Amino acid sequence: MTDDGPLEPFPEDWSAALVVVAHPDDMEYGGAGAVARWTDAGKQVAYLLVTRGEAGIDALPPAECGPLRETEQRNGAAKVGVSIVEFLDHRDGVIEHNLALRRDLPAAIRRHQPELVVLGNFADSWPGGGWNSPDHRNAGRAAMDAVGDAGNRWIFPELVESGLEPWNGVKYVAIGGSPNATHAVDIAGTFDAGVASLEAHRAYLEGLGDHPMADARGILEWIADMNAPRFGGKRATAFELMRR
Ligand SMILES: [Zn+2]
Repeated sequence: MTDDGPLEPFPEDWSAALVVVAHPDDMEYGGAGAVARWTDAGKQVAYLLVTRGEAGIDALPPAECGPLRETEQRNGAAKVGVSIVEFLDHRDGVIEHNLALRRDLPAAIRRHQPELVVLGNFADSWPGGGWNSPDHRNAGRAAMDAVGDAGNRWIFPELVESGLEPWNGVKYVAIGGSPNATHAVDIAGTFDAGVASLEAHRAYLEGLGDHPMADARGILEWIADMNAPRFGGKRATAFELMRR
């Protein structure tokens, strides 16, 4: 943690969110409890996955793993009230912050017209240390850029020609798992839904063997309880919030 001060309540003056992450399970490792809270309140949340996570299970070749992880992601999303799950099909493990991704992401933002865009941590490191992955760094940075590109008709004019008019309605970008968290969502009432969402990644968790990340409830308790002292003692999901 670079800052241990209190976390502000996450704003609620928005109605549609788009979650953009690199892999199946990225949102479930800490963020799904917040999504459940939002969908319970009637907000629309859609997921956009840059890859199918096909390189994520050591014992499974990508051709088998990709469809399995897609199914697990759809099941996990359903546990927290999300029925729209899309995949961009960039290759897992080698996501590049290139023009192809720069074009795909604003196209998705224009299609979904979110007021909130939710990303995973794309800093070099995790809170408390640990090197972040190149996929997370590149996908997150490209998505940050895409929020601006979505509003400019001249950067990718072919998007307008295909019917996707510019979208300038993103009010907030929230970054989960950030070392610079500023805001939090109270997940006391939706914690179990968040656990169910991560547990839906059954083959992935089994593939982790006895690694601590395979204990869905344990890891989510650890994250939520780490945030609680900064948020009135309540279990919480923390985000770095940027206003536009
Ligand atoms: Zn990931």
